[in-house]
This record gives sequence, structure tokens and C-alpha cells, in this order.
Amino acid sequence: MLDYADARSLVIEHTRPLNRILRPLPEARGFAAAEDLRASHPMPLFDNSAMDGYAVRSEEVSEAGEACPVLLENLGYIPAGDPGDFQIGPGQCAQIATGAPMPPGTDAVVMKEDVRVEGPQVVVLKSMRRHENLRFRGEDIAEGRVIVAQGTRIGPAQISVLASFGYVEVPVVRPPSVSIVSTGNELVEVQEQPGPGQLRESNRYMLRALIEEENCPVDLVVMAPDDPGALLDIFAQALEADLMLISGGMSVGDHDFTKSTFAELGIKQLFWKIRVKPGKPLFFGRHEETLVFGLPGNPSSSYVLFGEFVRPAIRKMMGLRDLELPMVKAVLDEPVAEFIPRMQFLRAQLWESGGEYRVRQLPFQGSNSIGSLVDSNALIQVEPNTPELPAGTRVRVRPLNNSIVLPE
Ligand code: AMP
Ligand code: MG
Repeated sequence: MLDYADARSLVIEHTRPLNRILRPLPEARGFAAAEDLRASHPMPLFDNSAMDGYAVRSEEVSEAGEACPVLLENLGYIPAGDPGDFQIGPGQCAQIATGAPMPPGTDAVVMKEDVRVEGPQVVVLKSMRRHENLRFRGEDIAEGRVIVAQGTRIGPAQISVLASFGYVEVPVVRPPSVSIVSTGNELVEVQEQPGPGQLRESNRYMLRALIEEENCPVDLVVMAPDDPGALLDIFAQALEADLMLISGGMSVGDHDFTKSTFAELGIKQLFWKIRVKPGKPLFFGRHEETLVFGLPGNPSSSYVLFGEFVRPAIRKMMGLRDLELPMVKAVLDEPVAEFIPRMQFLRAQLWESGGEYRVRQLPFQGSNSIGSLVDSNALIQVEPNTPELPAGTRVRVRPLNNSIVLPE
């Protein structure tokens, strides 16, 4: 049996980023930049006005004020998008819009609010320094600077910057194709009424939703009986994906055929069973380039293990730098007492109070509990062999991307 950290290291070690593809800019969201993406030119491209006002020669208005108004001739208006290429001579100025290029001869912009307009003339009522209210070519982003570093997830901010630099297509790492198979004779379809001993199948839907949150395509989603022949056919097909997720049948019950079918298909076992609660019988293996996870059928175990093991693998395949949702420190609102020799992830509620996070474990932690799935927005990580943790202890918590209603 492997420890949590060793199992995670093995997963990361055996996972490779997939190949690079070009995606049209609007469809690059959610993927990792496959390389450092650089600025092809300085930004801004030209010196421009930071204000709506009047482009002036600062030395002419350096002493201007209410008591010392300076009269200038206004040569016209430079709207945004205008080349603004007319020369401004002594005693002259031009009205200018925010973002419009500075006309030759000028070196400052007087705000509209600081002048009085008298027909074709402008009276400047405020002293101006050189370069006041200007934005300079390249002051924001120098030519050649990395604007989106390799491994960065492309989001709205990156899309904005990439659009600004003319990236019609973006080199990203392709996401893995994923297959999901739920096994179990007791499982029935969502639209069916469970008979004696049966329950509705839910893991396929949960895993699919988790995968889709990572922006990966799901190629195959099926349910299979605990029947070695059927499993062999279905798993063989599922192996065509880059990542294969199997739910259930990983334990040592008489009907647990998942592992023996893996062996028959030549799936190489990298580990099976970890010192983690929930989810001891996690399987991780590999068949050629396909990674295989065998998740326990209990929905909560599956959910927790997905976050701790599968998500980091997917993100690494996708070339992302951030492999998981970062952990935070939170103060225990109530004591935690469960002394076991395994790493635990307790489903919990996390909230903010007076500038710090507080956290409370849910009373029912059964790995079969689905109530705790919809009630938790965090997992408290408890190291193996931890004695009782009193209220007030600061603990490590993994926030979950899960919307819950917190009690008053
Ligand atoms: P297993 O890991 O196959 O031994 O399954 C453990 C328990 O998890 C089963 O007894 C079911 O109650 C439950 N279970 C297994 N697979 C699913 C599934 N796909 N959806 C919902 N519950 C499941
Ligand atoms: Mg089963």
C-alpha cells in the first residue's frame, strides 16, 4: 500500500503533456499555452493621450493658472483612430481624445476641465509639466516580452492580451480524450426505478461533469455489468482514449472483476491501494500511452480521489502549470477526532469570518454518503496518525469548486 504523497508522485511521474495544437483564439479558453507567447510589438504602439483634453507644448503653459491664463489657438480635434499628424506650432494646441496619438510638437495634455473654450481659442487655467497625461509607446508592454507564459491557462485576461497582439490562433496543448465506464450489477439508469438491492448509477455523470470542468472532451460514457466478458469488450474500447476512468469493482469482492480484466488487457499496474481515506482501493496504471484510473464505486470516494489524483494528471496532460486547486489554512471550528494510520480528507464546510477561514467537518463521513457531496465545499486534510485536533487548530484545507448553502 502506498502513501498519499508517493502515490501522487507516481501519477505525476507517469503523466506526460500531450502534443501542441493550434486553436482559434475564441476557442483557446481553458487550455494551456504550449510555449511562451510574446509581444510582437510595443504596447501602446504610439504615444497617446491619457485624457480627453488639449495637446499642448508644456513649456508654454508651465506657469499657467487661474491668475495667469494662457491663450492658445485650437487647430482642431484629433479623435481616437485619427493619425493626428498635423504639426502644432508655438501658441497653438489641438483638442484630443483619450487614446488618440499625440500630434508632433506637443508633449502634454491639459484636461478638458482645466481650460475655458472661447471660440477657436482655448484658455489654459492650470500649469502643466512635460509628459503630463501621456501614455508612451511601449510603457505597458515592451516588444518581445512574454505576455502568456508556457503552461498558463488561457482565460479572459489572456484572450484580451492575445487579441491585442494579433494572435488569430493560439498554440495550446491538446486536452486528453477521456472514457468513463461505471461497473456494477446493482446499478440502474437514471430514468429507472431501483428495484430491491439496486441503486441509480451516478458516477458516470459526476465524472463526466468533473472532466468537462477541466475542458476535456469525453469520448465514451457507458455502464457495464460485473461480467468479465462484457468488461473485456468495453474496457478494450475505452482504452482508445488518452485517459480511461473506471468506476467500481476495484475491491476484492467476488464480483470485482475490474482488476483482473485490466490484467487481461495488459494494463500495467503502477499502484493499487493507497493509505488514504476515503478511497483505499485506487488503481493507477498504464497501457501504451493511455493512463488508467480505477476508482472506487462509492461516489464520495470517487469525487475526492478525482480531485487528489485524476485532476492533477489531466492538468499535467494538458500542459498546465497549476495542477490542482490550491490549499488554504483554516481554523477548526470544532475538534476533529479520528486517529487512523491513513491520510484523511474530511468533507467539510469552509467559510470566511473576520478575515480568516474557518472550517467544520460534516458529521456524516461515510464513503457511500452522497449527502456530504452536496453539503461540502472543502476537504480537511488530516495527516496519518494525527491525535485529536482541538477546536482552534489551523489545518490544511482543499477548497472545492462546489456551491453550498452555509448554515446561519
Ligand atoms: P464497488 O467499488 O464496486 O464495490 O462499489 C461500492 C459501492 O458504491 C456500491 O455498493 C454502490 O453502492 C456504490 N456504487 C458503485 N458504483 C456506483 C455508481 N456508478 N454510481 C453510484 N453508486 C455506485
Ligand atoms: Mg461494484
